[in-house]
Amino acid sequence: MEDSTKPIHCPPDETVASRLLRNGRYAGEYYKPFPPNHFAPKPGQQSLDIAIIGAGIAGLNAAVALVQSGHNVELKMFERSKFAHEIGAAIHMCPNATRILSYYEFDFEAARATQLHQSSLLDAHTLEILRIARTPDTVRLYGASYSLFHRVDLHQQLQKLATEPRPNTKYVAKINLSSEILDIDLDGTVILTSGERMKKDLIVVADGVRTKFAAKVVSDQISTGVSPTEKVVYRFLIPTERLLEDPRTRSLFEGEGFQANIARLDDRRLVWYPCRQGALQNFGFFVPGKIQGYEQEVWNIPVDRETFLKDCSPLHPILQAVCSKADDIKLFQLCMRKQPIPALTKGSVVLIGDAAHPMLPHQGQGGAMAVEDGAALGVLLSDLRSKKDVPRRLQLFQELRFNRVSAVQILSSVGQDEIHKVVKAAQPFFEGPVPTTVEGLNDYNYTPNILRDALELLRQDRKDSLAKQEQKGYASSRI
Ligand SMILES: Cc1cc2nc3c(=O)[nH]c(=O)nc-3n(C[C@H](O)[C@H](O)[C@H](O)COP(=O)(O)OP(=O)(O)OC[C@H]3O[C@@H](n4cnc5c(N)ncnc54)[C@H](O)[C@@H]3O)c2cc1C
Repeated sequence: MEDSTKPIHCPPDETVASRLLRNGRYAGEYYKPFPPNHFAPKPGQQSLDIAIIGAGIAGLNAAVALVQSGHNVELKMFERSKFAHEIGAAIHMCPNATRILSYYEFDFEAARATQLHQSSLLDAHTLEILRIARTPDTVRLYGASYSLFHRVDLHQQLQKLATEPRPNTKYVAKINLSSEILDIDLDGTVILTSGERMKKDLIVVADGVRTKFAAKVVSDQISTGVSPTEKVVYRFLIPTERLLEDPRTRSLFEGEGFQANIARLDDRRLVWYPCRQGALQNFGFFVPGKIQGYEQEVWNIPVDRETFLKDCSPLHPILQAVCSKADDIKLFQLCMRKQPIPALTKGSVVLIGDAAHPMLPHQGQGGAMAVEDGAALGVLLSDLRSKKDVPRRLQLFQELRFNRVSAVQILSSVGQDEIHKVVKAAQPFFEGPVPTTVEGLNDYNYTPNILRDALELLRQDRKDSLAKQEQKGYASSRI
């Protein structure tokens, strides 16, 4: 990892042009957008037949990237749940992810992307404002927006991008819903529960936090399983209009601009922010607990309303009034993997998203890492001359992604104010010091332009291998 790990102390409004970024580059250069179809197929390019397991954010985004990077490929995706778990919650997409979505011509307007104006920290018991901060101008600082989405909108636009024909890409992704994968093999064999077998050049495993297939790429001694933490999250959405209609709750939701809020008590916190351009408010209520049977379901566990209201009882009456409006409440068991796994790829299998690096939501980076993974794969598998090059390209994926996803996985296990607790565990994945301030963490999370980093790695690798070949030729000519 380069110097971007160091906190850069500058006021949010300072122009990015003055900031030296990775590889000795200036921001204007590093963040300069690639023109559309920059990674589109070139004449004579080798196409791959790829299976993606799982059509969550990771699987869909990888499909978009791999299709657009122009393999002459039919992309199949296997999805067990008919997208059922993407219902009913919102997500932050940080600048490191939105710059990738922009490159792939993601339609932010159609996805009703919402921009935050400020964030506040409140005492959940008294409603006293403890801290309030304007959202940094991430477009100026990091060359990309900070956007909030309803997950269904994000999902739908990714699906559209992956499956709609484009002038520069011959193939589109095919999404096979309700086809659960029974097993895979490192040689690229996929076995469906129906018994059907198919052979692919590459299997991209994106089957989420309870992955069945991540174990394929690591040794038996390393566990890819996750354990429940001591926290669960109630998730629900409430139309903003309903909150404005009620004189008890109105004051929290009126006013200019969009606001994210954290109301905290000792052992619980209520987090909320708008999506769908302010039409809905998304809530996450983190409380102590462990759910029986989380092994079967982690996302959409049905909720007993009385238990929920009891959990809300320590909150300020206004917050209780807000929560009492929740209708379709889902429970999520927060789970974590003990430590990062050492390999992201083996044979013809590569891991992405939560399957590769499940993380707690404290940095809001799990989905963003999934987006980065897909983009890295898209670039590193572009301009492929021969299938023989695939193992090397996957090795580059490991090189580019391993430190980054491992570091973010560890940093995500605690709140931004508790990073000191994980500095030691995170240090092996940093070349410089582990960032511990909010600005430093934002810089570490938001700075990387994975498209450019992947392209540079690919170019450097080509140069190195040419130099090696030339050296070999020179040596043999002297024999
Ligand atoms: C409360 C909470 C808040 C969060 N907030 C943010 C945020 O603000 N920003 C952010 O970037 N991240 C956030 N995250 C993290 C983010 O949601 C995840 O990292 C992201 O959704 C992971 O996507 P994925 O595609 O890897 O996995 P998933 O979305 O879990 O998708 C995996 C898919 O694989 C399918 N599947 C599984 N097994 C099989 C099989 N055998 N055959 C076929 N299909 C299979 C599943 O049905 C599923 O659809 C949050 C997470 C939580 C819990």
